[in-house]
Amino acid sequence: MPLSFNDSSVTVAIVGCGGFIGSHLLDAVLCRTKWRVFGVDVDFYRIQHRLNDERCEFINADLADPRIVERIAQFPVVVNLAAICTPSRYMAEAPAVIRSNYDHPAALACACAKSGAWLIHFSTSEVYGRTLEDSGQLDEDKTGFVFGPVASSRWSYATAKLLAERFIAGLAGLCWTVVRPFNFVGPYMDFMPGVDGEGIPRVLANFSTALLRGESLKLVNGGKARRTFTSVFDAVDFMFALFASGDKGFSQAFNVGNPDNEVSIAELAERMRRIFARLKGVTVESLPAPEVVDGETFYGSGYDDSMRRLPSVEKAAKLLGFRAQVPLDVAVEESLTWFIGHYSNAAD
Ligand code: NAD
Ligand code: UDP
Repeated sequence: MPLSFNDSSVTVAIVGCGGFIGSHLLDAVLCRTKWRVFGVDVDFYRIQHRLNDERCEFINADLADPRIVERIAQFPVVVNLAAICTPSRYMAEAPAVIRSNYDHPAALACACAKSGAWLIHFSTSEVYGRTLEDSGQLDEDKTGFVFGPVASSRWSYATAKLLAERFIAGLAGLCWTVVRPFNFVGPYMDFMPGVDGEGIPRVLANFSTALLRGESLKLVNGGKARRTFTSVFDAVDFMFALFASGDKGFSQAFNVGNPDNEVSIAELAERMRRIFARLKGVTVESLPAPEVVDGETFYGSGYDDSMRRLPSVEKAAKLLGFRAQVPLDVAVEESLTWFIGHYSNAAD
């Protein structure tokens, strides 16, 4: 049976509800449905405006704690977003990254299999691994996975996510759906290094930081890698299509991305410079020129990259009637506008 958005007896557990995607999903659930929310995180700064909402119960707890895992699994729908997912940490903290992206989801999956909860687990488009310049569309059920050697510790995250997917798919009695996000962007994305986080955030937040600080955008290994950036608002719409789909989304992994928004990182840098200059009323020429940097120097030893990540999105279209809509420039501008408003005073 599809979930009714008017059914006030439904409670959805959102694990990682204080994160970038979680904060948007939380807002949308409260605005578009009558559901209640059981929210778990270790950081609530993005959702201060929701902490006193009477339809929510928030718990400051770590998914490593088996007692909280049992509690979460008591709810009929469990969305698991909790993870270490900052690229610069994949090299320096591989064991913690693997525990976060394999051990914790596996324990949650076991608890959901026992309780009968529907587990919607966030994996990553990075499970497609070390894709090449000429890799075509990545298909959930046909494309194979190739990773680098163990010394390329960048793959700690992707291999742990992939193992979690295999564990979930193989677990008897579990009702599951896996989501593979393709570079979501939007307001509340990541952090500004030295202000509200440490390390190197994902590219859009890192470029936004550099633009605000008047620094050059760093093009890792020349910025030749290609990505398809997807608005977080499209991602939330995907979740609602999934919630409404009844059993059509069960036992499926879905790419969630916008193939129309494919760009190289060098092209993204140029677009962001143009949009930033317009928003600030300055000329593009007055901004520092982008600078090419070596990947291992920038991220640390063990860095490696996917050269192209272009999703096939036909499965979500066929089973859920969902296609992402937001064009790249709109998604980038929404994200950059928020970043400028949020961090202008903190940039120096
Ligand atoms: P995020 O870092 O903003 O959010 C993750 C949240 O989980 C954070 O608020 C964090 O405090 C919380 N968390 C981490 N470990 C926890 C633990 N042990 N116990 C409780 N809470 C914990 O990340 P996001 O961008 O919102 O991503 C959400 C999920 O989607 C992650 O699983 C990530 O791997 C996946 N994903 C996201 C993207 C993207 O484009 N944003 C791309 C690929 C995969
Ligand atoms: N990148 C870059 N400059 C930066 C940050 C990232 O050139 O300041 C590159 C990175 O090497 C990768 C792409 O941008 O090729 C996307 O990186 P991100 O960390 O956003 O996530 P990924 O898609 O690799 O998981």
